[in-house]
Amino acid sequence: MNSERTPGFGTRAVHAGQQPDPTTGAIMTPVYLTSTYVQEAPAKTKGYDYSRSHNPTRTALEQNLAALEGGRHGLGFASGMAAIHCVLNLLQSGDHVIAGNDLYGGTYRLLRTLYTKFGLETTFVDLTDLGQLEAAFRPSTRLVMLETPTNPLLRCCDLAAIAKICRRKKVLSMADNTFATPWLQTPLALGCDIVAHSTTKYLGGHSDVVGGALICDDGALHQQLMHFQNSCGGTPGPMDCFLVLRGTKTLHVRMQRHCENALAVAQWLSEDKRVERVYYPGLPSHANHAVAMQQMRAGGGMVSVELKATVEQAKQVCASFAVFSLAESLGGVESLVDHPASMTHASIPAEQRRGAGLQDGLIRLSVGIEDQADLIADIDGALRRLR
Ligand SMILES: *Cc1c(COP(=O)(O)O)cnc(C)c1O
Repeated sequence: MNSERTPGFGTRAVHAGQQPDPTTGAIMTPVYLTSTYVQEAPAKTKGYDYSRSHNPTRTALEQNLAALEGGRHGLGFASGMAAIHCVLNLLQSGDHVIAGNDLYGGTYRLLRTLYTKFGLETTFVDLTDLGQLEAAFRPSTRLVMLETPTNPLLRCCDLAAIAKICRRKKVLSMADNTFATPWLQTPLALGCDIVAHSTTKYLGGHSDVVGGALICDDGALHQQLMHFQNSCGGTPGPMDCFLVLRGTKTLHVRMQRHCENALAVAQWLSEDKRVERVYYPGLPSHANHAVAMQQMRAGGGMVSVELKATVEQAKQVCASFAVFSLAESLGGVESLVDHPASMTHASIPAEQRRGAGLQDGLIRLSVGIEDQADLIADIDGALRRLR
């Protein structure tokens, strides 16, 4: 390969961070099930001394993810939450964080229940409104945490505009890119400082592993984050790294199909009388369609649908699918359905939930890569419960 040229996404997905094993020629990166490494002389190592600090399978994954996000440095974690927790370790007592008001529940919980006790303050704002973001800055603001698209209403905020404001204010920005994946959008290229992932979702892609990652471009920032990664120890095991690495090899192919299927499902649902509203960034009817299409390659694999239904009816619909499985999580090859009001978002008080636009009849679909006609027939069948 010509080294002057940056390989395309698919080539990076399959190859970045991986070389054939020098001792055997094995084409796949071995799962290095080892905790320690023999040293030739005290402190004379081959770059590895203890597997919490570094492990070759993890190194391959970290380099692969960095290449996909277009950053120089990647760090692997045992879960998405361990990765996000690592970012918060950059802060100290008295610091202020601005976060999206519909962040992933676990991130919200970390900010609200754990970090307040260490004197960290967070203001939650609607990041699709840049005025709200500007107004929330304080002299003590150190970090802006965002997600786009968000869960479950798939609201999209302007990555480039937010990154620009953060750079002007000299405040770090972290984008959780779990829902979009680097195939759809690359926040570092748009000026964000850190990308966070739950690799449990699309990057792993097969619902068989829990993991997380951080990617950044700045060397000093990477050193700090790596220090916390090693100090706190929330690192992934080599088998988990192998599974995510196997997942990323097909990321571009899977995402393409996820997006095609999700668009078809969203279009079909928009024309159905049993449906109140469809939330899909790829549809012109979506409130943030313009921003989404400016920064994303396609609309993504998630579709949320507000049914003309009560909580009980929505639960019945969710239990009536045959191809879609009723489960939390997302991003695997198989289609999943979730009822946020009684499952993923049940911990939010009902009034607050409805106030945030999360109605009782809302269901969230993680559209898989099965045959489109089967998915649509399955949805049609489940919606018959509403008659
Ligand atoms: C799932 C998820 C997380 C948390 O990741 P885990 O791997 O479950 O710890 C964080 N952010 C988003 C957007 C997620 O979907």
